[in-house]
Amino acid sequence: RPELSGKFDKFMNWVDNIRRLKVRTNADTPRDAAQAVAFGAEGIGLCRTEHMFFDDARIPAVRRMIVSNTVEQRKKALDELLPMQRKDFYEIFKVMEDRPVTVRLLDPPLHEFLPSNDEDIMELAKSMGIVYSELKERIESLSEFNPMLGHRGCRLAVTYPEIYRMQARAIIEAAIDIKIDGYENITPEIMIPLVGDSNELKYVKSEIVEEINLVFEERKTKVNYLIGTMIEIPRACVTADEIAKEAEFFSFGTNDLTQMGFGFSRDDSGKFLNEYVEKGIFEKSPFEVLDRDGIGKLMKIAVDLGLKANNKIHLGICGEHGGEPSSVEFCHQLGLDYVSCSPFRVPIARLAAAQAVLKETLNVHRDK
Ligand code: PEP
Ligand code: MG
Repeated sequence: RPELSGKFDKFMNWVDNIRRLKVRTNADTPRDAAQAVAFGAEGIGLCRTEHMFFDDARIPAVRRMIVSNTVEQRKKALDELLPMQRKDFYEIFKVMEDRPVTVRLLDPPLHEFLPSNDEDIMELAKSMGIVYSELKERIESLSEFNPMLGHRGCRLAVTYPEIYRMQARAIIEAAIDIKIDGYENITPEIMIPLVGDSNELKYVKSEIVEEINLVFEERKTKVNYLIGTMIEIPRACVTADEIAKEAEFFSFGTNDLTQMGFGFSRDDSGKFLNEYVEKGIFEKSPFEVLDRDGIGKLMKIAVDLGLKANNKIHLGICGEHGGEPSSVEFCHQLGLDYVSCSPFRVPIARLAAAQAVLKETLNVHRDK
């Protein structure tokens, strides 16, 4: 009802004046992005690019790219994907206007793209002009026992740097186009997933910066951009000072950090972990509520080390916990700059961020 909605807006306005944490959203389509903006999102903290690659129109080229034996074949497949990626990013930038957008480069387990039934394998072999048995062997060699700990994130770019180069090109070309269309302040944030060692980031960064500079030369213009990383592997937390020298921002991927910190598979989180809760071992699943005592400590180590090495580093969270109230409070206490959550959790995150400030203020007064 209009009078209710007016009151709600007024209330949320107060809330926004109180909170210190910015609230962004996780969105990878213009539709989700628009929905989140309507809920008050101040930017995109995580634009996952996996789903774009699973699109029916793109999967044949994606498959060819993965199973190709030569860089030339791979580049040919990526050339087909480039205009589609450029359009993906252009449309998201347009919805978000001048708000910040963090695009995360590709991060699915590689094998998820591979064809599994004979018919699809046959079709792929035909489109590539290779024999079925050769392709089947190649596919088998790419399959993994433990894909969540395997060939994904920046590890993909160590093997196939052309993939991230294509994505960086698409992001920067789209940003140049949107700047020409009047959005002067566009500053895309390019995020590298699954970094566990600063040398991984250094290598990937050198590849994508080279590609970005090629775009600037070709287009005879430039845009500002940032390069940063997900912090989602325990080793990344304890070596965050080294990583921060290579990064302009950190975004905590607490889904993976919880998985790897506890050694619990996130795919199994709804199964035996329910019994932990029933038997009082955990109050709530650590995939739902951030575990302050363990995962939170790792985050604190990363924040302290990161800021020590690079006091300008921008800090956020984009794991599911970024929209859960008590985890948002913890992120406030940790001194993060923003939380990012799914569109429908944005209003809750705004409220939780304001409550964290109020609670802090009350505690200060109580202690006096
Ligand atoms: C995470 O790991 O917390 C994260 C945001 O990335 P994803 O869920 O896509 O692995
Ligand atoms: Mg992750």
